[in-house]
Amino acid sequence: MALVYCSQCGQQIADTAPTCPQCGAPGATAARQVASKKKGNPTLQIALACLTFLIGLGTYNSGNKPQGMFFMLTGLIVGAYSIYQKNKPSL
Ligand SMILES: [Zn+2]
Repeated sequence: MALVYCSQCGQQIADTAPTCPQCGAPGATAARQVASKKKGNPTLQIALACLTFLIGLGTYNSGNKPQGMFFMLTGLIVGAYSIYQKNKPSL
């Protein structure tokens, strides 16, 4: 266990503390988790993958089947990869 300084009040707190006991601000552990979640933004990637899949579905239904299949497959692969990234335990 190491001591770090609170980003809000400057008080020394344990880096394992979820919140600062002095002011209640999120501690070093919580801040680190937020930072790792922001990296890569899998939620946005999943949304884009869904959009790509829907564009592919529309293209497929409008008669352009090869291009529609390509978009749907791309959406599925990117979506699966993003969900894997989102659920992967951060170190
Ligand atoms: Zn504090």
